[in-house]
Amino acid sequence: MPLDRFGRNINYLRISLTDKCNLRCVYCMPEDMTFRPRAELLQDDEIYRLVHIFTELGFHKFRLTGGEPTVRANFVEIVRRIAGTPGVRTVAMTTNGLLLDKLARPLVEAGLQRVNISIDTLNPEKFKKLTRWGNVEDVWRGIHAAEEAGLGIKLNAVVVRGYNDSEDVVDLARLTLYQPWQVRFIEMMPFGDVADFQQAGVVPEEELRATISAALGPLTMENGGRLDGEARLFRLEEGLGTLGFISSVTQPFCAGCSRARLTADGRLRLCLLRENEVDLMEPLRNGASDEELQKLITDGIWWKPWGHGLARNVVPKNRVMSEIGG
Ligand code: SAM
Ligand code: SF4
Repeated sequence: MPLDRFGRNINYLRISLTDKCNLRCVYCMPEDMTFRPRAELLQDDEIYRLVHIFTELGFHKFRLTGGEPTVRANFVEIVRRIAGTPGVRTVAMTTNGLLLDKLARPLVEAGLQRVNISIDTLNPEKFKKLTRWGNVEDVWRGIHAAEEAGLGIKLNAVVVRGYNDSEDVVDLARLTLYQPWQVRFIEMMPFGDVADFQQAGVVPEEELRATISAALGPLTMENGGRLDGEARLFRLEEGLGTLGFISSVTQPFCAGCSRARLTADGRLRLCLLRENEVDLMEPLRNGASDEELQKLITDGIWWKPWGHGLARNVVPKNRVMSEIGG
């Protein structure tokens, strides 16, 4: 199992299948975002080969993301091939949910187990403003389709001051009173040209918890305070579901990080919030052997940065979020 120099076991790979998206969330990418030509993205066979190489190294959990993973051509087949790779135990996806209505069932049949669906507000006008043109009803259809298909569901909301930081948060939290879902609130992180907007709009976890408790009652800590992945969990009194807080900005969880990321253009990204990357695409396309690629991966992981530098205003500039996948 790959270890980094701080003794962290890295066994979870998030794969960005495409930088493209059918939305343009204000906190994720600029409206006039230009996307990479298809030839610059990992092709299906290249993804399958890398997944095999990562499993040989001991990676067993894979999350498909983007951009929007469901807009990738051949998506269901990609899930099927990854889920069928020996050594793969979990295949999950992060999605905006717009296409889940049609895809949820075929994805489950292909081996997808879990889905995180992004929904930042239940208010249709605000949803449109945050996503620049999205329709929240489409996301709801996707959530119901995912549930009917038997997928494990978590909902993700990025909170942006002035957009969805008050009653929207309360409305989302209220869902956990009668749904067994985990609703997770994510502190906005800064990237590239969007960083000024993101830093000005971040809403800290403490403030969110205070807003929710004032409206819905006390929150009880779950899981003995241990993180569930990257989320700190709480429950409302008599709530069927839980509330998760992913507070990478104000309360980073770098000590427990087990993640690496593969960008759609074939770079191994060692930390979401650091620019360090290892190019796997070029050697892959120039005939590198599996052993050579494994060595590039294990050497890169050894040098995985400890944590981010946001407190010292070190912001990753080389990519925006949609190019990394979250
Ligand atoms: N398109 C899919 C979606 O929106 O769920 C998957 C890709 S998206 C980049 C992955 C996750 O990152 C989503 O939950 C999204 O809300 C979140 N995200 C995007 N930009 C972010 C930012 N600047 N800070 C924190 N989370 C962000
Ligand atoms: Fe697209 Fe997801 Fe980024 Fe929104 S957060 S623009 S849905 S990639």
